[in-house]
Amino acid sequence: MIDTHAHVHTSSFDGDRDAVLARTWDSGGRYLIEVNIDPAGWPEVRRMARSDPRIYATLGVHPHSSGSVGPDDLEDLLGALDDPEISPRIVAIGETGLDYYRDYAPHDRQRDLFHRHVAAARETGLPLVVHARAAHDDVLRILREEGQGKVRGVLHCFSGDRAVADQARDLGFLLGFGGAITYNPKRSAPLLRDIGLDRIVLETDCPYMAPHPRRRERNEPANVPRIAAAVAEYLGIDRDEVERTTDGNAISLFGLPR
Ligand SMILES: [Zn+2]
Ligand SMILES: [Zn+2]
Repeated sequence: MIDTHAHVHTSSFDGDRDAVLARTWDSGGRYLIEVNIDPAGWPEVRRMARSDPRIYATLGVHPHSSGSVGPDDLEDLLGALDDPEISPRIVAIGETGLDYYRDYAPHDRQRDLFHRHVAAARETGLPLVVHARAAHDDVLRILREEGQGKVRGVLHCFSGDRAVADQARDLGFLLGFGGAITYNPKRSAPLLRDIGLDRIVLETDCPYMAPHPRRRERNEPANVPRIAAAVAEYLGIDRDEVERTTDGNAISLFGLPR
């Protein structure tokens, strides 16, 4: 299985990172996409992606950090794309996006930095890892304007409705689902059935969003099989099919080895 969105480089895992990664592979993990959040975290993301051929990196600034990270800092960070020691391991731009729910950074700063990430994805041809919360209209508008039909990616931890999912599909975006789908099955099951397995990738967003009944615990990539099991239950299919199809979706989107 593939965890398409993890933050194992963050301080939540400082005490036992190697053990967490060992459990990832033991649980059937095939690849791990380690998602960068800010310039301060990049050295550890970089180290992880160079330490194991199954770990890939993304490069970007989370909307929550866009109040303290300026355009020049982003330019410096994106310089890693020119570094031959790490650039082959970078499979996406992000995580980027807009979050009007938490409101940790001014909206205009978030939009400015999001525009710059979409432009970088367009220029490099790399997919985009997008965080959208209470901001779907602006996210979709900026993807259309700045992406110019040339940017693909994933709306991770998808929290939109059917109409947003349809617009994402028209833009060529996949939808990432994690532990949150286990919190409210009555809402998640029909949405997942509408979307269909071909548009879905699995993720943990660890250390956040642990699946039920571990919701209050630290999440980790070894929980991906629990998420796959929930998807299988909602769609009335077996877990192997969920694994096969969602792995294939992730491999295609991120250009991972088959
Ligand atoms: Zn996110
Ligand atoms: Zn994230």
